[in-house]
Amino acid sequence: MLTGVRIVVLGGDARQLEVIRKCAELDATVSVVGFDQLEQVIPGIEHRELEDDVFASADVLVLPVVSCDDQGKVSSSFSDTAIVLKKEHMAALPEHCTVFTGMAKPFLRELCQENGLRLIEVLDRDDIALCNSIPTAEGAIAIAIKETDITIHGSECIVLGIGRTGFTLAKTLQGLGANVRVGIRRNEDAVRAAIMGWKPFMTTDLAAQTGEVDLLFNTIPTMIITAQILSRMPQKAVIIDLASAPGGCDFRYADKRGIKALLAPGLPGIVAPKTAGGIIADALIRLLLEEQNAREVKS
Ligand code: NAP
Repeated sequence: MLTGVRIVVLGGDARQLEVIRKCAELDATVSVVGFDQLEQVIPGIEHRELEDDVFASADVLVLPVVSCDDQGKVSSSFSDTAIVLKKEHMAALPEHCTVFTGMAKPFLRELCQENGLRLIEVLDRDDIALCNSIPTAEGAIAIAIKETDITIHGSECIVLGIGRTGFTLAKTLQGLGANVRVGIRRNEDAVRAAIMGWKPFMTTDLAAQTGEVDLLFNTIPTMIITAQILSRMPQKAVIIDLASAPGGCDFRYADKRGIKALLAPGLPGIVAPKTAGGIIADALIRLLLEEQNAREVKS
């Protein structure tokens, strides 16, 4: 149980509702800022304004998955009131407070450092990234279905990168009956791909692979689908770039050639906010319970 733990949730989207709900269910004291337009009632939480005293007693400050922008602006899907995280808010947090987010912007990192606060960036963790790969793969396939006039079954698919996201995506496409090739750069990944029944190729040979492709999915966070690659691709091909912004595709040139190329960020939060929020909530709760156990063992 999280009895006696004070959690302040500042802004966010539908994913944060799972965090709020699950923490409140475990008896944490949950204060939320930026949820004034929330229509559903979550029992056992208090709605607060952005005031220093909200911060002063927080054991955990939960920020949206994307944290805040470089001016401290925190987005909230459930409020029209601007939420701006200021230096004085962070300075008001107790020393033991943990700041919890998906991925922090430099602004937040600096403020945490200045105030000696522990910052947890949960999307960094392997277990979370792997869990997130499932809604990401499903979201990518939903886009593929919408943007093509062919079935995934029998289509020629290439997945670039078989890290956490690429692996799950390749497996899901294979499950739907696609012919899956994967672009890799390490020999061990070639073996891993062969074991999975995918055809591996080195990304340095990408140009030779794209002649007959229907769907090209990218998970490599660097410029990989260059103008040179695009110049040899069939116009019917659809590119779905999952890598973090700015992606790994020359979108300008793709557009010039009439090839449909889409950057598709934040899919878990778009296609499966409840699942994605649950993944984040479970990670936060696990962390808090582990800390609680460690304290109990010490005392
Ligand atoms: P990951 O586990 O690190 O996988 C990245 C893959 O890219 C690895 O296989 C890596 O190969 C490969 N790679 C990196 N640089 C390469 C290069 N220069 N040449 C060839 N291969 C290269 O990362 P991930 O968790 O799968 O995430 C991949 C990207 O998707 C990230 O940008 C992440 O932010 C993004 N993402 C997007 C969404 C969304 O909703 N769109 C959701 C989750 C993640 P090695 O193993 O050899 O390094």
